[in-house]
Amino acid sequence: MKLTVNTNHLTLIDRIIEAGTLGKTREAVLNAAVIEHARFLLTGGTPFRPPPPGVVEVDTPVYGPVREELVIPPITGKAIPVRTGEVLRISQVEGGTCVDYNAYNLHDYKEWLDCGFNRTRGVTVGKGTIIWSGSPRARPMQAILDHSDNFDQYYQGHRCNGLLNEIEYGFVDHPNCQDTFAEAIREYGLTPDDVHDSYNLWMRTNVTPEGRREFHWNRARRDDYVDLLAVIDTLSVPIICGIDTIPLNNYGPGSIRLQVFAASPSTRGLVETIQKRFGRFHAQKTPKDFKTKEIRMKRELERDPNYVPNYFPNPAETAIEVNVTPEVERLLQTLLATGDYLESKEHALLHSFLRWYDIAWPRDHVSTKLAFRPRPDAPQRNV
Ligand SMILES: [Zn+2]
Repeated sequence: MKLTVNTNHLTLIDRIIEAGTLGKTREAVLNAAVIEHARFLLTGGTPFRPPPPGVVEVDTPVYGPVREELVIPPITGKAIPVRTGEVLRISQVEGGTCVDYNAYNLHDYKEWLDCGFNRTRGVTVGKGTIIWSGSPRARPMQAILDHSDNFDQYYQGHRCNGLLNEIEYGFVDHPNCQDTFAEAIREYGLTPDDVHDSYNLWMRTNVTPEGRREFHWNRARRDDYVDLLAVIDTLSVPIICGIDTIPLNNYGPGSIRLQVFAASPSTRGLVETIQKRFGRFHAQKTPKDFKTKEIRMKRELERDPNYVPNYFPNPAETAIEVNVTPEVERLLQTLLATGDYLESKEHALLHSFLRWYDIAWPRDHVSTKLAFRPRPDAPQRNV
């Protein structure tokens, strides 16, 4: 058959030839990939299964001494600088408190913790999670080094806000995370428009297949904690959610304690490991790479009369001749019959190869986690 592919498809096929795992020619690789993909399906896989996220083994770091500590009362927040290698510990004073969280690059507020970006490969949670800023910056900002049990995370939503309270309950000026974030970041000259979707800590919520959220009561106990390593200098903004009509705060939030542990040789070493592995990509753009570098000062949008579009070119397509074996021919017909492999044998072949590649080719993802090797000398956790 004549298979139409573009230059990117050919790059991946040729990468497999070079690796020598499926065959020495494009034809051999494509035929073998269909068989391997079918085997994957027969052993419980699906054509939609995402790739395994992968792990990076690192040493468990020892933090420096506490350099700052404060307690923030219910329904307030605090914008607090946490510098590279420092660890922000957020802990429960009474327990049962939902903490909403935003973070910014301390030196450029246009780079921020983007929940949507962090969800790219599923909702990664818990110890070892790397927390990323959004595209086009797209780099690790923080990492979860440790937490106590019953640490429920949720970041599939927006943030509670005044409109929800007013439209649903008729409450005007009810405390809400949008306004609390805005009040906290005002200390650094940011506006309510600079609040972003919340990366929630101790929020027990699941999302139904229809996208509706189911809210559960808060399991956090007194002194439960989470430790966030700053991979870059951040302005970290934990706030306490003021919601009292659903059980996220057990109908009455408590206080939270913030402690900043100084950087140490081992936290700095961990930062370096993370940056070396996840901060080395051409796609991680900064303003010096932008065609428009300045932040717009005027609110009104006006067309630039000198604008000339400059998009990436569409990859070139070519047709390659591929003879499929009778066995692969039968498999492709079977895959097409499922309705999940597009509508032609050629597309089913390409789709099978790409789905096989997705699962089989080892690589990092946004969801790749850190796995901490225990410290041989000191098994106790950081206190
Ligand atoms: Zn809230």
